[in-house]
Amino acid sequence: MTGDDIQALANAIAEKLEAVNNRPTLRQLAAGVEGWICPRCGCERWWVSDTRFDGGVIRKRECRNCHKLIKTIEQPIEDA
Ligand SMILES: [Zn+2]
Repeated sequence: MTGDDIQALANAIAEKLEAVNNRPTLRQLAAGVEGWICPRCGCERWWVSDTRFDGGVIRKRECRNCHKLIKTIEQPIEDA
């Protein structure tokens, strides 16, 4: 592999990591409505801009601090 190949690979991995980091973690999912932590700024305050039901309650949320948009799905957890 050339240096360019390695750089391209590093960029691809960085992009994948960023995509993963932009999703709420399972821990945040389990924490419930008030437990969301903005992956960009760490803020936990959200505006809810849309709510619909599709196998669970799906909400679009916007970070009150940095305005990052996320989508959350609320589902019951069995055997809680
Ligand atoms: Zn934020």
